[in-house]
Amino acid sequence: MAWRCSGKTNATLVDNLYQSGIISSKRVVSAMKSVDRAHFATSGNPYEDAPQYIGYSVTISAPHMHGYALENLQDFLKPGMKALDVGSGSGYLTACMASMVGSAGHVVGIEHIHELNEGAQAAVDSHYPDWSIRFVTGDGRKGFAEGAPYDCIHVGAAAPNKPSELLEQLKSPGRMFVPVGTGSQYIIEYNKDKDGSVSEHKLMGVVYVPLTGEHQQRRQS
Ligand code: SAH
Repeated sequence: MAWRCSGKTNATLVDNLYQSGIISSKRVVSAMKSVDRAHFATSGNPYEDAPQYIGYSVTISAPHMHGYALENLQDFLKPGMKALDVGSGSGYLTACMASMVGSAGHVVGIEHIHELNEGAQAAVDSHYPDWSIRFVTGDGRKGFAEGAPYDCIHVGAAAPNKPSELLEQLKSPGRMFVPVGTGSQYIIEYNKDKDGSVSEHKLMGVVYVPLTGEHQQRRQS
């Protein structure tokens, strides 16, 4: 499945994700068409439906995973809403989220490798300079309290277990999309209701790099 949606251009890649049913919302289609993956995946083939290496032992996630995430979070990425992207890496998904919340909204990407943030910032400065995005360098396991609470939180690396600190930074109501687990990993959708109670749903098995310490990750690269 991972390869099925590859395209020759950004637009055909997104059309293929739509035709395969991975994304069905017109808002998600238009967000993914408004952000060219080639601006963020600078080595490898940006339009292949597979992860591409971006340095420092990590990859930009595959387009179908970005599609699933945006589709899942779309009701919490409405114009004017606030979102947090933990482990923002290339900055691609952060930009898609910013496209959806618009200029009245705001998205924070938190990433612990400052060189990746510099690349993400440069791509946004060159191609999407008016969008409401802030890249922060720091330990995303703690979230970014300064910008909280968020309507939604996307986590791009696997948490070992329930990410309680991040859940505290979610609005009521709000939603988090996060891979969880050490051996087997699953995407867990956490929903905080209007009274602050949290429920969880296991969505699918996945393979993500773990949320880790900066020095530990740099030692591996
Ligand atoms: N969603 C991004 C990156 C996915 S890879 C994209 O698609 O481009 C996971 C990212 O999480 C990597 O960039 C890695 O450096 C980052 N990461 C891992 N542990 C982290 C931590 N504790 N704090 C912040 N970022 C972290």
